[in-house]
Amino acid sequence: MIEIGILSLQGDVSEHVFAIKSAMKKMALSGEVVEVKTRDQLKALNGLIIPGGESTTQSKLISKYGLNTEIKKLADEIPIMGTCAGLILLGKGNRNSLGLMDIKVKRNAFGRQRESFETDLRIPKLGKEPYHAIFIRAPVIEEVGKGVEVLAEYDGKAVMAQQDRLVAVAFHPELTPDLRIHRYFLGLLKK
Ligand code: GLN
Repeated sequence: MIEIGILSLQGDVSEHVFAIKSAMKKMALSGEVVEVKTRDQLKALNGLIIPGGESTTQSKLISKYGLNTEIKKLADEIPIMGTCAGLILLGKGNRNSLGLMDIKVKRNAFGRQRESFETDLRIPKLGKEPYHAIFIRAPVIEEVGKGVEVLAEYDGKAVMAQQDRLVAVAFHPELTPDLRIHRYFLGLLKK
Protein backbone atom coordinates (compact mmCIF):
# COMPACT_ATOMS: atom_id res chain seq x y z
CA MET A 1 0.00 0.00 0.00
CA ILE A 2 1.32 3.43 -0.86
CA GLU A 3 1.37 6.45 1.38
CA ILE A 4 1.36 9.95 -0.09
CA GLY A 5 2.03 12.87 2.23
CA ILE A 6 0.88 16.44 1.89
CA LEU A 7 3.12 18.73 3.92
CA SER A 8 0.54 20.30 6.22
CA LEU A 9 2.22 23.19 7.97
CA GLN A 10 0.46 25.95 6.01
CA GLY A 11 -1.26 26.43 2.67
CA ASP A 12 -3.87 24.70 0.54
CA VAL A 13 -3.56 21.23 1.99
CA SER A 14 -7.14 19.97 1.74
CA GLU A 15 -7.32 20.70 -2.00
CA HIS A 16 -4.24 18.53 -2.58
CA VAL A 17 -5.63 15.78 -0.36
CA PHE A 18 -8.81 15.76 -2.45
CA ALA A 19 -6.95 15.88 -5.78
CA ILE A 20 -4.48 13.13 -4.95
CA LYS A 21 -7.22 10.88 -3.54
CA SER A 22 -9.23 11.39 -6.72
CA ALA A 23 -6.18 10.68 -8.89
CA MET A 24 -5.40 7.50 -6.93
CA LYS A 25 -8.95 6.31 -7.37
CA LYS A 26 -8.83 6.96 -11.13
CA MET A 27 -5.55 5.06 -11.37
CA ALA A 28 -6.87 2.22 -9.17
CA LEU A 29 -4.01 2.74 -6.71
CA SER A 30 -4.82 1.77 -3.18
CA GLY A 31 -3.18 3.78 -0.48
CA GLU A 32 -3.46 6.52 2.05
CA VAL A 33 -3.04 10.26 1.96
CA VAL A 34 -1.46 11.67 5.08
CA GLU A 35 -1.37 15.27 6.32
CA VAL A 36 2.27 15.39 7.35
CA LYS A 37 3.57 17.49 10.23
CA THR A 38 6.27 15.36 11.84
CA ARG A 39 9.58 13.71 11.00
CA ASP A 40 8.20 10.26 11.72
CA GLN A 41 5.32 10.77 9.29
CA LEU A 42 7.83 11.86 6.61
CA LYS A 43 9.86 8.67 7.02
CA ALA A 44 6.96 6.42 6.03
CA LEU A 45 6.10 8.15 2.74
CA ASN A 46 6.24 6.97 -0.87
CA GLY A 47 5.61 10.45 -2.23
CA LEU A 48 5.38 14.01 -0.87
CA ILE A 49 3.59 17.16 -2.03
CA ILE A 50 4.58 20.60 -0.78
CA PRO A 51 1.50 22.79 -1.31
CA GLY A 52 0.99 26.41 -2.31
CA GLY A 53 0.60 29.04 0.35
CA GLU A 54 3.25 31.31 1.78
CA SER A 55 6.79 30.06 1.32
CA THR A 56 8.33 32.17 4.11
CA THR A 57 5.84 30.86 6.65
CA GLN A 58 6.22 27.30 5.42
CA SER A 59 10.00 27.43 5.60
CA LYS A 60 9.91 28.85 9.13
CA LEU A 61 7.62 26.03 10.21
CA ILE A 62 9.80 23.42 8.45
CA SER A 63 12.73 24.70 10.55
CA LYS A 64 10.66 24.99 13.70
CA TYR A 65 9.54 21.37 13.48
CA GLY A 66 13.03 20.22 12.45
CA LEU A 67 12.00 18.76 9.10
CA ASN A 68 14.75 20.20 6.83
CA THR A 69 17.15 17.27 6.97
CA GLU A 70 14.47 14.63 6.52
CA ILE A 71 12.91 16.41 3.51
CA LYS A 72 16.35 16.78 1.91
CA LYS A 73 16.99 13.09 2.44
CA LEU A 74 13.65 12.16 0.90
CA ALA A 75 14.50 14.09 -2.27
CA ASP A 76 16.93 11.28 -3.20
CA GLU A 77 14.44 8.56 -2.38
CA ILE A 78 10.85 9.41 -3.36
CA PRO A 79 8.99 11.69 -5.79
CA ILE A 80 8.33 15.17 -4.41
CA MET A 81 6.11 17.77 -6.06
CA GLY A 82 6.08 21.42 -5.01
CA THR A 83 3.33 23.73 -6.21
CA CYS A 84 3.68 27.53 -6.15
CA ALA A 85 5.11 28.24 -2.67
CA GLY A 86 6.18 24.57 -2.74
CA LEU A 87 8.17 25.26 -5.93
CA ILE A 88 9.93 28.15 -4.18
CA LEU A 89 10.94 25.78 -1.39
CA LEU A 90 12.18 23.11 -3.81
CA GLY A 91 14.35 25.56 -5.74
CA LYS A 92 17.24 27.92 -5.11
CA GLY A 93 17.71 31.66 -4.98
CA ASN A 94 15.44 32.64 -2.09
CA ARG A 95 16.15 32.87 1.61
CA ASN A 96 13.60 30.17 2.28
CA SER A 97 14.73 27.71 -0.42
CA LEU A 98 15.59 24.13 0.46
CA GLY A 99 17.63 23.87 -2.77
CA LEU A 100 16.52 20.35 -3.65
CA MET A 101 16.27 21.16 -7.36
CA ASP A 102 18.76 22.88 -9.58
CA ILE A 103 16.39 25.69 -10.51
CA LYS A 104 16.69 29.39 -9.77
CA VAL A 105 13.33 30.76 -8.73
CA LYS A 106 11.91 34.27 -8.72
CA ARG A 107 9.08 34.79 -6.22
CA ASN A 108 5.97 36.80 -7.04
CA ALA A 109 7.26 37.08 -10.60
CA PHE A 110 3.96 38.30 -12.05
CA GLY A 111 3.36 40.96 -9.44
CA ARG A 112 0.88 41.25 -6.60
CA GLN A 113 -2.35 39.41 -5.80
CA ARG A 114 -4.21 41.54 -8.35
CA GLU A 115 -1.99 40.16 -11.09
CA SER A 116 -3.15 36.60 -10.45
CA PHE A 117 -4.57 35.00 -13.60
CA GLU A 118 -5.73 31.87 -15.38
CA THR A 119 -4.46 30.62 -18.71
CA ASP A 120 -4.32 27.54 -20.93
CA LEU A 121 -0.87 25.97 -21.10
CA ARG A 122 0.63 23.51 -23.50
CA ILE A 123 2.17 20.68 -21.49
CA PRO A 124 3.24 18.03 -24.03
CA LYS A 125 4.00 15.42 -21.32
CA LEU A 126 0.31 15.50 -20.34
CA GLY A 127 -1.04 15.09 -23.87
CA LYS A 128 -2.47 17.36 -26.56
CA GLU A 129 -5.30 18.86 -24.51
CA PRO A 130 -4.29 22.27 -23.06
CA TYR A 131 -4.02 22.49 -19.29
CA HIS A 132 -6.05 25.23 -17.62
CA ALA A 133 -3.67 26.70 -15.06
CA ILE A 134 -4.38 29.06 -12.16
CA PHE A 135 -1.52 31.38 -11.17
CA ILE A 136 -1.79 33.10 -7.78
CA ARG A 137 1.10 35.42 -6.96
CA ALA A 138 3.11 32.82 -8.76
CA PRO A 139 6.86 32.37 -9.02
CA VAL A 140 8.75 31.57 -12.23
CA ILE A 141 11.80 29.44 -12.86
CA GLU A 142 14.49 31.78 -14.17
CA GLU A 143 17.30 29.32 -14.74
CA VAL A 144 17.51 25.56 -14.88
CA GLY A 145 20.53 23.29 -14.41
CA LYS A 146 21.62 20.52 -16.76
CA GLY A 147 19.56 17.74 -15.22
CA VAL A 148 16.32 19.71 -15.30
CA GLU A 149 13.64 19.34 -17.95
CA VAL A 150 11.23 22.23 -18.52
CA LEU A 151 7.72 20.78 -18.90
CA ALA A 152 5.75 23.99 -19.46
CA GLU A 153 6.33 27.62 -20.28
CA TYR A 154 4.18 30.71 -20.09
CA ASP A 155 5.18 33.87 -21.92
CA GLY A 156 8.65 32.44 -22.51
CA LYS A 157 9.16 31.64 -18.84
CA ALA A 158 9.47 28.16 -17.33
CA VAL A 159 6.50 27.39 -15.06
CA MET A 160 6.81 23.61 -14.66
CA ALA A 161 9.99 21.55 -14.48
CA GLN A 162 11.27 18.16 -13.46
CA GLN A 163 14.58 16.87 -12.18
CA ASP A 164 14.63 13.09 -11.67
CA ARG A 165 11.52 12.51 -9.57
CA LEU A 166 11.20 16.08 -8.30
CA VAL A 167 8.48 18.15 -9.97
CA ALA A 168 8.08 21.92 -9.61
CA VAL A 169 4.83 23.62 -10.64
CA ALA A 170 4.40 27.41 -10.48
CA PHE A 171 0.60 27.29 -10.63
CA HIS A 172 -2.11 25.45 -8.67
CA PRO A 173 -3.07 22.03 -10.12
CA GLU A 174 -5.05 21.29 -6.93
CA LEU A 175 -7.53 24.09 -7.72
CA THR A 176 -8.83 22.67 -10.99
CA PRO A 177 -10.73 19.44 -11.63
CA ASP A 178 -8.08 18.36 -14.19
CA LEU A 179 -6.16 15.59 -12.42
CA ARG A 180 -3.44 15.11 -15.01
CA ILE A 181 -0.64 16.66 -12.95
CA HIS A 182 -1.47 14.64 -9.84
CA ARG A 183 -1.68 11.54 -12.03
CA TYR A 184 1.66 12.36 -13.62
CA PHE A 185 3.17 12.71 -10.16
CA LEU A 186 1.74 9.36 -9.03
CA GLY A 187 3.15 7.81 -12.22
CA LEU A 188 6.64 8.66 -10.92
CA LEU A 189 6.21 6.35 -7.93
CA LYS A 190 6.90 3.33 -10.07
CA LYS A 191 10.03 4.66 -11.72
N1 GLN B 1 3.74 34.31 -3.36
C1 GLN B 1 3.79 33.17 -2.49
C2 GLN B 1 5.18 33.00 -1.87
O1 GLN B 1 6.09 33.67 -2.25
C3 GLN B 1 3.38 31.90 -3.22
C4 GLN B 1 1.96 32.01 -3.67
C5 GLN B 1 1.20 30.73 -3.74
O2 GLN B 1 1.65 29.68 -3.26
N2 GLN B 1 0.03 30.82 -4.26
O3 GLN B 1 5.34 32.21 -1.00
